[in-house]
Amino acid sequence: MAKIYFIDVTNRDGVQTARLGLSKLEKTMINMYLNEMGVFQSEFGFPTTKHESRYLQANMELAKMGVLRPIRLGGWIRAVVTDVERAFKLVPTIKHLNLSISTSDQMIRGKFLGAKSREDVTNMMVDAVEAARARGIESIGVNAEDASRTKIDFLIRFASTAREHGADRFRYCDTLGYDNPFTIYESVKTVAENVGIPIELHCHGDLGMAVANSLAGAKGVIDGGQDAYINTTINGIGERAGNADLVATALAITKSKGFAGKYKLAKPVNLTKAWKISRFASYAFEVPIPINQPGVGANAFAHSSGIHADGVLKDPENYELYSFDEVGRGEPELVETGRAICSGEYTGISGFKHIMGQMAVSFDDTAQAEAVLELARYANVEAQKPLIEDELLFIAKYPEIARKLLTLTPLQ
Ligand SMILES: [Zn+2]
Repeated sequence: MAKIYFIDVTNRDGVQTARLGLSKLEKTMINMYLNEMGVFQSEFGFPTTKHESRYLQANMELAKMGVLRPIRLGGWIRAVVTDVERAFKLVPTIKHLNLSISTSDQMIRGKFLGAKSREDVTNMMVDAVEAARARGIESIGVNAEDASRTKIDFLIRFASTAREHGADRFRYCDTLGYDNPFTIYESVKTVAENVGIPIELHCHGDLGMAVANSLAGAKGVIDGGQDAYINTTINGIGERAGNADLVATALAITKSKGFAGKYKLAKPVNLTKAWKISRFASYAFEVPIPINQPGVGANAFAHSSGIHADGVLKDPENYELYSFDEVGRGEPELVETGRAICSGEYTGISGFKHIMGQMAVSFDDTAQAEAVLELARYANVEAQKPLIEDELLFIAKYPEIARKLLTLTPLQ
């Protein structure tokens, strides 16, 4: 039976969100955490954007070193030949790409302003797929932007053409969050049955249904006989009202009524990492986790009213679908309430040795400590907030990778 995979797009959809962004080190930490969590693929950035080049190359190096493994790292570009060429020029080692183009009449008319037809859009996609294939790409996803507002017969033709020319997956983008669970189920099941290609579900929350639509979409794709790939972001951070939240979607697949028995993840997602990854994304994006966020919100396991508190004390299953330790909660956390020595862009060697010493990191000599300190300072310049322990440990462990991540010289 067909299975469900996760493709997290925090490092693409999440960072292109208005008012939000991540440093290159923070993006790298997200890839590390997604890998630990068992997520199938991270859409790790934009290979045609110059300031991403060194970050993308450094992360490809981490993959080669076996550090970012088994997670797959996929880039996102427009489905045009010039983007494919530029992606391979700037990131020659790129192995996985998603190629995106608009397919709805609204967007073909409204974005290309009469200059392109459905056939033109299809041809541009075909040329881009063939260009990527010719350069030895390992996997290609073809994205139909605004698929939910695209006439189903054209969507089938477009996806069939993509498959015939070597696309491995078809991304059904509910770009505006227009679908509901009933409509997306029907649409993607129809595409799966008629085209015979694995389908990605890319759902947005403009109507509050991103997770529900992802689940219904996955069911539709699997009922249509194909593997389903759900696009998620950490804490649901994404364009406008956001995307399907990674943790909530994983919980919904594994815990919701009657779903897990029939529709399964290809490989388990380690939900005990949920608390850590959500907290990190919240800190890095500087966006608080809502108090009522599934699994990781402050109130997700809080009870105060008489009947609920009494019930949960007698048996937690009275009022909890899953336990806090399943999402990595319950460990006491040490919060410094007195003097704090933090990392910063002007940190000196004494404070730095103190910080690293608290993490039980020792250096061979002062020169080595100073070299790592210098990198940590640069990381602070980019992040503009104290580095967390894992970031400092990463820099100490992979100083040469960190140097590449932190080199932001504008390319010619
Ligand atoms: Zn999106």
